[in-house]
Amino acid sequence: MYIVFRCDCGRAVYSKQGTATKKCVCGKTLKVKERRILAMTEEAEQASDKVRELQEEKYGGAIFTTADKVPNKR
Ligand SMILES: [Zn+2]
Repeated sequence: MYIVFRCDCGRAVYSKQGTATKKCVCGKTLKVKERRILAMTEEAEQASDKVRELQEEKYGGAIFTTADKVPNKR
C-alpha cells in the first residue's frame, strides 16, 4: 500500500506504507505517521496519479496540464 499525504508546503507526496519518513522536495523531512492521510492506493503508479490530482486541485492544473488543454494562441 502507498499513502498519499500533504507536506506543510502544500505539496502532495506519497510514500510506501511502513516508511517512517519522507523527504519532500522542499527539503522538509516528514514523519509519515503524523501526517493526515489523503488517500491510500495499492500501486505506486496510482499514488503518483493521486498526487498529480491533488496538485492540480491546488494549482488549478497549470503545472500538469496536457497539451490539448492549452488554449490555442496565435
Ligand atoms: Zn514540502
